[in-house]
Amino acid sequence: MIAVYPGSFDPATYGHLDVIQRASLAFDHVIVGVLHNSAKSPLFSVEERVNILKDAIKSYSNVEVRSFEGLSVNFARESHAQVIIRGLRAVTDFEYELQMAQTNRVLAPDVDTVFLATRLEYAYLSSTIMKEVASFGGDISKFAPSQIIERVQEKLLQR
Ligand code: ADP
Repeated sequence: MIAVYPGSFDPATYGHLDVIQRASLAFDHVIVGVLHNSAKSPLFSVEERVNILKDAIKSYSNVEVRSFEGLSVNFARESHAQVIIRGLRAVTDFEYELQMAQTNRVLAPDVDTVFLATRLEYAYLSSTIMKEVASFGGDISKFAPSQIIERVQEKLLQR
């Protein structure tokens, strides 16, 4: 079974990488979809976010990374995926994620959403929190692998 894992990934954290690792065991093929969202102003360009992820997942033979625009269900269909994966951290994620999953089911009854519960040690973690801590000079070494941290720090210096 093929699954897509859509998100902003601006940039990926240990939380995302944990979901990808677990999804790679559960599904035959996993396509991580980096959303090109013109409404948000991300720290990293889509190409940068894709390259960061490609670098981080290269040891998984059944995972690939692509960018996409528009609806996740369309991305799933174009990728011949039957499943959309989303990570669930806390109840605060739940309401929005359930609404999205139900909407997607109406739009595409042939595509199902599967939630992976976050590992407890990453439950607090988001790309936003990581960027915020880094912007104030805090230590983000527990939030993402060193290659990603270096890129965040470089990017913040350029600003
Ligand atoms: P989006 O803008 O679509 O929410 P994100 O890049 O923030 O994109 O997240 C992509 C997916 O990864 C979402 O399903 C989100 O719930 C999940 N996710 C984010 N952070 C974590 C984490 N720390 N642990 C597990 N899943 C996470």
